[in-house]
Amino acid sequence: MINKLIPVQPSCSDFDPNSLSVSQATTQINTLIATASESLKITERTSCRNAFGRVLAQDIIATFSTPPYDNSAMDGYAISAQDIPKSDTSNVNIIGTSWAGKPFNGEVKKGECIRIMTGAKMPQGADTVIMQEHVIKNDNSITINTGHCARQNVRYIGEDIKVGDTVLTVGKNIGPAELGVLASMGLAEVSVFRKLRIAIFSTGDELRGVGEPLEDGQIYDSNRYTLYGLLQKPYIELLDMGVIPDIKSEIELAFEQAANVADVVITSGGVSVGDADYVKETLEKIGSINFWKIAMKPGRPLAFGKINNATFFGLPGNPVSVIATFSQFALPAIRALAGQTKTKNTNYHIKCTTELKKRAGRVDFQRGYLSADDTGQLSVSVTGLQASHILSSMSYSNCFIILPEDSTHIAAGTIVEVQPYNEWFF
Ligand code: AMP
Ligand code: MG
Repeated sequence: MINKLIPVQPSCSDFDPNSLSVSQATTQINTLIATASESLKITERTSCRNAFGRVLAQDIIATFSTPPYDNSAMDGYAISAQDIPKSDTSNVNIIGTSWAGKPFNGEVKKGECIRIMTGAKMPQGADTVIMQEHVIKNDNSITINTGHCARQNVRYIGEDIKVGDTVLTVGKNIGPAELGVLASMGLAEVSVFRKLRIAIFSTGDELRGVGEPLEDGQIYDSNRYTLYGLLQKPYIELLDMGVIPDIKSEIELAFEQAANVADVVITSGGVSVGDADYVKETLEKIGSINFWKIAMKPGRPLAFGKINNATFFGLPGNPVSVIATFSQFALPAIRALAGQTKTKNTNYHIKCTTELKKRAGRVDFQRGYLSADDTGQLSVSVTGLQASHILSSMSYSNCFIILPEDSTHIAAGTIVEVQPYNEWFF
């Protein structure tokens, strides 16, 4: 007899009418954090060097131009373009030297030149630099050939930045180039957003910390280490709150404590429908949390919402699901909460050299390896087993291959969307 109470799920599709698409989840997250990010916009002053990796909280307007004066791009001789011969050669007298940091104060007239070093200020009357390799040096003069262009080898005032230009804007993450720009503007201090405080937990009775012996049925807590690595950013202050056992009262206490000290609380595990998955009922009691089944693989269950003022992400327990949901949902939210301006999507479309297997109904984040051949052509291939507990294959891969919800079997040679992991490093 057929038992009518057993729900039937077609095995050829992962379509679930109760699940949320990746883009729907992203939209809901964006809506909720839009209000939270305003209240976090507290700024602080920091020294130029300590601003590295932080999020800029002020526009940087140039108070002077750079280069601040016309200067030589070469080691050579500064002349007036009138002295470039039209035919034959011309001879010009050397009347002085302009060093970087020690300019020549006189004026260069027709028939004259000065010796000039790279970066040295151009003297009055000169507008052209002839490279030293392109002249014949006599005792007190040089001989110049034809073939030079007027105004060559000169770097002009304001070519890089003009006074009044906005060189950096609020929300910019300060990387090495930005640090250099700040220093070139002579700024010893800048305004940055205060660090975002993020608390992380693992949940599960089976979890042991590294260095402890494992008993039967136990595993090491790897998620907290992965999250620790993913959250090592100068704009984050990380609070590692350890492992919480699957005990309701302890989960509740830990979540309340975390929400009191952190702007964002991230947990892993306990958000599924198992008998020891108490995260859900705890959050329903103390916060306003959504529990979503997301149409993605790996990473189906995700809890998202608020406990008091803290934004809460309850990531799934499986190690690869943690990385997938963190990178796609938590990290973009964290960047926004930290004050960063959203950067453009940098996913690539690249040819995949291997065949990919997939069911319709979910977006797949398959682990791939992106590489260039000897001619510099990029391609991607899939790396081994794709189950959400196979953490080692994350380490063999360097990108996610993102396959759309409705796609099924993907033949070798197909162009696929690729997200390099190094996108997560800032
Ligand atoms: P859960 O959602 O708590 O049922 O966890 C799903 C799977 O992920 C189980 O196999 C857990 O043992 C595993 N898991 C949960 N948390 C961690 C963790 N912190 N480190 C490694 N594996 C974990
Ligand atoms: Mg668990």
